[in-house]
Amino acid sequence: MVACSSHSEEFPSVRFVYLDYNATTPLHPQVLEAFISCSRNRFGNPSSIHWAGRESREALESAREQVARFCGCDPSEVIFTSGGTEADNLAIKGVAAASVRRGRHIVTTAVEHPAVLASCLSLEQNGYDITRLTVDRLGQIDLAQLEAAITPETILISAMWANNETGVIFPVAAIGGIASRHRIPFHCDAVQAAGWLPLECRASGVGLLALSGHKLHAPRGVGALIVRKGVRLYPILHGGAQERNRRAGTENLPAIVAFGVACELAAASLVEVSYRVRRLRDQLEAGILALCPGAVVNGDPVERLPNTVNISFPGCRVDSLLASLDLQGVAASSGAACSSGTVRHSPVLAAMGISPETAGGSVRFSLGRETTGDDIGYVLGILPAILERLRSGGASVRG
Ligand code: PLP
Repeated sequence: MVACSSHSEEFPSVRFVYLDYNATTPLHPQVLEAFISCSRNRFGNPSSIHWAGRESREALESAREQVARFCGCDPSEVIFTSGGTEADNLAIKGVAAASVRRGRHIVTTAVEHPAVLASCLSLEQNGYDITRLTVDRLGQIDLAQLEAAITPETILISAMWANNETGVIFPVAAIGGIASRHRIPFHCDAVQAAGWLPLECRASGVGLLALSGHKLHAPRGVGALIVRKGVRLYPILHGGAQERNRRAGTENLPAIVAFGVACELAAASLVEVSYRVRRLRDQLEAGILALCPGAVVNGDPVERLPNTVNISFPGCRVDSLLASLDLQGVAASSGAACSSGTVRHSPVLAAMGISPETAGGSVRFSLGRETTGDDIGYVLGILPAILERLRSGGASVRG
């Protein structure tokens, strides 16, 4: 359980349970320590040549080595960014800008994060041709379809490692193999996979890999794009010569140093944390299916992140359900954007062929390293009554 505000004084039996780790994660205490220590002691600009600058440069390069070890790449291949969104934008727009003579076709999937989809859309509006691969009912792409989509004009394949809404894991090594055979760079958004799956850039054929600090118990506003040697990329931010001329701007050193520590901690605990959290996730999933009639799990039952379950409760409105859970201290989320009382259904679930009625009652529970068995027991204790009340109280989906 994650420590929280004084809400419990109003509802003495409420337990605060945070099950939204795919949205963001709390800072790891050692990461926070590194952030504070760097802010206090490493104030020099890493580009300055005097002692203060040199100390900061050393801290920057040491964080770069930690990130490189985490992803199985060379430190010179790490570009620090402001987060996953910038890393995805840099990968897609940077490769496109560097490849204008080769072609103007990109292959991606229909279920990517908006940072990828919107980057591709902006290129499409400027004359690029974008193929968005569909997914099947389990959220998986068809590799034959990917291969068939490639043309002599294709300059980039962009497919995520694991989906943020469903946790579905794509066959990254197979995609990397296809990309290598066709000599096309492969950009992989690994923001959600980081910390749960080993990210071996060298072995998986990934040419560009996007990471975000705040999904990994590091601060918001920091991330990285790994660009393997041989991949041509132009910068999208222009200014100073930082990051070997690939990303201008004075480095956010405390956040970068904290991110490096977070990568090291994640690598050291990956197997243990994944095993423990998977058991809790499976307990939650099995409990919901047993206690909540009609509940259906969305996404590949096997190829799925160990911490994520996306589950539909047909006949319930997700906004009412999330509000009821929140009132009882449980933080979860949906993939649907909700504004002024209308729910826009998740494009990811829609791409999987899930009906608007079913998608409209879908919740994503994403667990993390602090989740406990008591948290799961608490959710399973309150959920059936919430569902019964919502279903009998007229808060049903009207389409
Ligand atoms: N890619 C994926 C798969 C994500 O889940 C997210 C964040 O939710 C991002 C990219 C964007 O990362 P950031 O919040 O660091 O910009």
